[in-house]
Amino acid sequence: MNVNLELTDHCNIRCRMCSQSLRDEAHGAPMRFMDFETWRRGLAGLAGLPDVHLCPHWLGEPTLHPAFDGFVEYAFAVNGPNRLFQRFKLHTNAVILSPERSRRLVRLANAPPGPASAAPGTFEAVHFSIDAATVASYAFVKGADHGERVFRNVARFIELRGAAPFPVVHLTMVVQEGNRGDARAFVDRWTRVLSAANRSFRVTADWPPFDQDAIYLRRLNTGDQAGADAWHAQACRDVGLVGTARPPGSF
Ligand code: SF4
Repeated sequence: MNVNLELTDHCNIRCRMCSQSLRDEAHGAPMRFMDFETWRRGLAGLAGLPDVHLCPHWLGEPTLHPAFDGFVEYAFAVNGPNRLFQRFKLHTNAVILSPERSRRLVRLANAPPGPASAAPGTFEAVHFSIDAATVASYAFVKGADHGERVFRNVARFIELRGAAPFPVVHLTMVVQEGNRGDARAFVDRWTRVLSAANRSFRVTADWPPFDQDAIYLRRLNTGDQAGADAWHAQACRDVGLVGTARPPGSF
């Protein structure tokens, strides 16, 4: 069962394709940050539920929460041996991703096995919403001039993860008007980064599984679905996408 415990509905950027960025109030009420007691009780309430896949996000950017690191540390501290959740996924725009935070996430994902530890692979994935290959298209699509910073933060996360098996990364671009010419450069950029880290990965046009890293050209959901589908199909053709798993450096 998928469970989203939304740490915040605030966001630090304004993506053109995101309804969160189109409204002053994401849930029809002033935006907030979850307090620790709500997080503690929410986690405790997962006990006994079947096969919980936990994501600390719904709308908003979870890393924007001022206590994000402590909240995630706490979740893993009380989860041994998977008594609350079996899988954990982080979705982030990577605007706020310091080396310390990256190391913390990699450490939590690769804690040594033991009777009181969660099973290896519990922290299975980080989904990076990048959505551009250039600073110009990033600024247009994401509504903020953070392109260089995001590209650097994600690349550094992959470098710091090194050979650690978890979490896998999904490097995502929602194909849309402002970035539909970026597909080749997007795939090339992240192919270089993943290959330098000696990671196996796939390039995909649909939601990737969690068995290895992925570069994901995502279809936009919109009112003009036929138009968005055509952009997506062209982006896939631009990269020769066949969606098969590839060893490092072979794409
Ligand atoms: S980063 Fe996520 S929550 Fe924020 S505007 Fe973009 S898609 Fe929406």
